[in-house]
Amino acid sequence: MSRFLHVVAVPEAVATAVGMAPDPLTEEIPADHAPGRVLCAEVIAGEDIPGFDRSVVDGFAVRAEDTAGSSESVPALLRCAGRVAMGYAAAGLSVANGGCVYIPTGGVLPKGANAVVMVENTEETGDMVLVKRPVSYGENILLHDDDYRRGTVVLPSGRRLSPRDAGVLAACGRTSVIVSKKPVIGIISTGNELVPVTATPGPGQVRDANASMLAAYLREYGCTPKFYGIVPDEHEAFETVISRALPECDVLLLSGGSSKDDRDMTARVVAGRGEVLVHGIAIAPGKPTIIGRIDGKPVFGLPGHPASAFVVFIVIVCPLLDRMLGQTKAFLRTTRATLGDNIPSQKGREEYFRVRLENGTAQPVFGKAGLLNTLVASDGLVRIPSGCEGLERGSEVEVILW
Ligand code: AMP
Ligand code: MG
Repeated sequence: MSRFLHVVAVPEAVATAVGMAPDPLTEEIPADHAPGRVLCAEVIAGEDIPGFDRSVVDGFAVRAEDTAGSSESVPALLRCAGRVAMGYAAAGLSVANGGCVYIPTGGVLPKGANAVVMVENTEETGDMVLVKRPVSYGENILLHDDDYRRGTVVLPSGRRLSPRDAGVLAACGRTSVIVSKKPVIGIISTGNELVPVTATPGPGQVRDANASMLAAYLREYGCTPKFYGIVPDEHEAFETVISRALPECDVLLLSGGSSKDDRDMTARVVAGRGEVLVHGIAIAPGKPTIIGRIDGKPVFGLPGHPASAFVVFIVIVCPLLDRMLGQTKAFLRTTRATLGDNIPSQKGREEYFRVRLENGTAQPVFGKAGLLNTLVASDGLVRIPSGCEGLERGSEVEVILW
């Protein structure tokens, strides 16, 4: 018998979480600090890029028609009219009928030319150049607006910027960008049995693993984690820490104490200070999860087992973070794989099974709840829909990489 009054399905829980997302706050930051941040105002090309027609190879700028029919045995013979210097306009140089101009990679295409022959396909003898391969119109040339035309979108709003984007921003002359502010996420670990990482656990005690795990992931996600330490299972202690953390944070994550045990304080304290929107999700692991709101801010009670806490964090909290960051594409990556073994599952709940990836095979990582080693042994999660009694070996699955 469930001790949970009303267990909601995963999509409903996700919608409840995402529904609490405040609009992203924005800030302007230096472009070279932008990777990992989410763009909140699209970047438009202020000019054509590259801005001039240029060669993409070292070779000779020619008129394509002058090379028609040329070959190793019957090369075209062109007169070289000069050399393009890097970083300068090809002033005074032009390619006339039967002529050519030496051009390095990235050099400005001289007037009259409409293609470039690679140097490997030519031979210079004095003023004359033998062309041993024909080129077609436009070959080996990048036009002035081939990369970006002035006024077009270079980077769309909602994109999580990559180091590659920083290069493109620089090429476009952008030194700053407008991104979403990093949400501050308060982390509170609860349980009389918890001790800090620096302590040696006595009998019945365990070190706090969740705070470090959640904080590390949040940093990677582009949020600012804020630690509030370990709170014993006492109403007053919960009240005190929540009151302290709420004004300083955008979201609170509590782990442990989320079930309906007498000791489990989270739901009572959240209900007292605000509202409990969800208590119990049809998800495994992670059923005893709380989604609440205090003073308009999302508060989550995650289950205590580290693996369960992480699964719920990924499935329920991350979509909220995506929204708060203004991110249009989920941060989580997925990959397809073939299941290496049967995974049994119970109908009526969505199950997230840990798997290890081996050459395109997703190998289930079996182990009891509460084990830490499955976190290390697994590369991601396979979702088993709630209407399904398991997945068969050999089936195609999507793996959520974590
Ligand atoms: P609870 O959800 O509070 O009933 O806790 C379930 C299990 O998770 C218990 O064995 C706890 O000791 C363990 N646990 C709770 N919080 C943490 C934490 N922060 N780090 C490691 N284990 C925890
Ligand atoms: Mg507990």
